[in-house]
Amino acid sequence: MALLHPLSQIISPPQIPTPQLGYDYDLAIVGGGIVGLTLACALKDSGLSVALIEAKPHSVAAAKGQAYAVHMLSRRIFEGIGVWDKILPQIATYRQVRLSDADHPGVVEFQPADLGTEALGYVAEHQALLTPLQEFLQECPLVSYLCPVEVVKTQYEPGGVEIALRVDGESRKIRTRLLVAADGARSRIRTAAGINTRGWQYWQSCIVAFVKPENPHNDTAYERFWPSGPFAILPLPGNRCRIVWTAPHEEAKALVALDDEQFLAELSRRYGDQMGRLELEGSRFVFSVQLMQSDRYVLSRLALIGDAAHCCHPVGGQGLNMGIRDAAALAQVLQLAHNQGEDIGYLPVLKRYERWRKQENLTILGFTDLLDRMFSNNWLPVVVVRRLALWMLQRVRPLKKFALQLMTGLRGRAPELAQR
Ligand SMILES: Cc1cc2nc3c(=O)[nH]c(=O)nc-3n(C[C@H](O)[C@H](O)[C@H](O)COP(=O)(O)OP(=O)(O)OC[C@H]3O[C@@H](n4cnc5c(N)ncnc54)[C@H](O)[C@@H]3O)c2cc1C
Repeated sequence: MALLHPLSQIISPPQIPTPQLGYDYDLAIVGGGIVGLTLACALKDSGLSVALIEAKPHSVAAAKGQAYAVHMLSRRIFEGIGVWDKILPQIATYRQVRLSDADHPGVVEFQPADLGTEALGYVAEHQALLTPLQEFLQECPLVSYLCPVEVVKTQYEPGGVEIALRVDGESRKIRTRLLVAADGARSRIRTAAGINTRGWQYWQSCIVAFVKPENPHNDTAYERFWPSGPFAILPLPGNRCRIVWTAPHEEAKALVALDDEQFLAELSRRYGDQMGRLELEGSRFVFSVQLMQSDRYVLSRLALIGDAAHCCHPVGGQGLNMGIRDAAALAQVLQLAHNQGEDIGYLPVLKRYERWRKQENLTILGFTDLLDRMFSNNWLPVVVVRRLALWMLQRVRPLKKFALQLMTGLRGRAPELAQR
């Protein structure tokens, strides 16, 4: 008999799992951002009961003014889940990437033929990913979406985790076999579990803004490396574009404080006039930029995914894509363990996920850091080496393919979801 869970009033969709031998759910995912949602959706047919816990009300979460480059492997994962058809109509496809070093005339051009795919990647606004994933939860009868509900405390026991929740100002408790932290870069779950992180804050901040160009963007993404930091302009639906512009902290602060006309003039100086006049849409924001890797991705009864486990420089648009791969990898490990009758919170099971993802993420973290350091540098020998590297990248096809595969996730171990 399915028991009515005390949280049933705030569960949407109102599906109540059957508690099993003292557990309310097999696993609880803390954080209903895109990474947490991807894991919940990927577990649809796993037979595991899942609580997905998100603190922010739906309207607040959906209003996040962020946009992301979505790579080919992420697309394949979303296809494997069965949500890609709902995402695709709302996002832009880029079919050309132009890479250049400041105002040096040599440009590296990437086309889908270089990768052997029909596109190079996609650009999606936050809501274009969040809403289809949230809607897909309605097809996941074993996932209970607890929102807005905040996790305030966790207590680890040998056989499970007791999680204290704040629901409408009241306290509740649930028990699970496994806790998954998808609660972002400042993960309280990670800190409370005593997992240390390594890394640094960059000397740059990142300005993001939306613009509408006069001329068609022609599905082209530009990445231009200035000594002050990388500058990207990414195509969006409705002939809009996303600016991701890194600059030293003081410069970034001064730039966002400019009035619209002055800001656009500075923007055109960095970007040029390929798309004609640019018109600003909405506000600009500044983000701090950090490189961070958690010492451990797992403990007994705990796994970290997404920004809770790692963060990187925005160059190349890697952060969210790594998190989506974490989610797909963890789903596969848990599904297999469950099929084999193993305890999904058992450390040796979770270590399989850590072995799979930690080193691969570290490679990407290192690569983005190297790119930033190589290009934000005016020392002549470095300038010569990087211009030679760009020259070779444009002319040596296997090298071009290798670089593209690395940046789009196609060189690592692909989860089974992405191969369906
Ligand atoms: C300027 C900039 C540009 C970027 N561009 C790109 C890009 O082009 N491509 C790309 O792949 N990545 C990009 N990134 C990185 C990307 O934004 C992050 O990697 C991604 O958003 C992380 O997603 P997440 O789901 O792990 O965490 P978050 O999006 O931070 O989600 C965490 C969720 O957990 C919830 N939460 C936290 N604590 C609790 C709690 N105690 N109880 C309940 N819920 C809780 C929060 O409300 C939140 O919804 C960029 C980052 C920056 C800063």
